[in-house]
Amino acid sequence: MKLKKLAALVLALILTLGCALPAGAAARRYYMSYGDSGEPIGWFQDLLGVYEVAVYNYYGDTEPYFGTETRAAVRTFQRDYGLTVNGKLDANTLYALLDLPYYRTSEDPLVWIPMHGGTRYHSDPYCSNIVDAREMPCTCAEDCGFLPCARCFY
Ligand SMILES: [Zn+2]
Repeated sequence: MKLKKLAALVLALILTLGCALPAGAAARRYYMSYGDSGEPIGWFQDLLGVYEVAVYNYYGDTEPYFGTETRAAVRTFQRDYGLTVNGKLDANTLYALLDLPYYRTSEDPLVWIPMHGGTRYHSDPYCSNIVDAREMPCTCAEDCGFLPCARCFY
C-alpha cells in the first residue's frame, strides 16, 4: 500500500513536470533559419557567397533576410560538407562555416544572440528585452565578436 502511494506520487510528479514544459521544448532549437532577418544573417550570407534582397525591420532600416536564396545556399553548403541538410544555420553548419574544429555538444553550450543589434550573448533569450534571439554555440558567438552578458551568462 505504501509503495503504491509512492508510485502514484512519483507518477503525479512526472505528469506535473511534463505539463510544465511545452510539447517538444527539449528538442526545439532556435537556429537562424528561413524567415529570419538581422545583421548576423548578413555575415553568414557573406561566408556562403549568397546575396538576398534585404527587408525592412521595425525601425524602418533594411537588414539582411534569410529567404529562399539563403536557404538554398545553406543546403548546398551542408550537402558539400556532409552535414545534415536542413537549410538551417545549426551548430554543425556554423562550425563548418566559421572554419572551427569539430562541434562537441557537451563542451560548447548554446547561447542566445540578438538579431537586431547588441554586442552580448546570453543564457536567457529574454534578457535585456532582446527581440528575436537566436541560438548558436558559445564558441561561434565569440568568433562572431559577441561578448558574454554580465547579467545572465554563467
Ligand atoms: Zn543576458
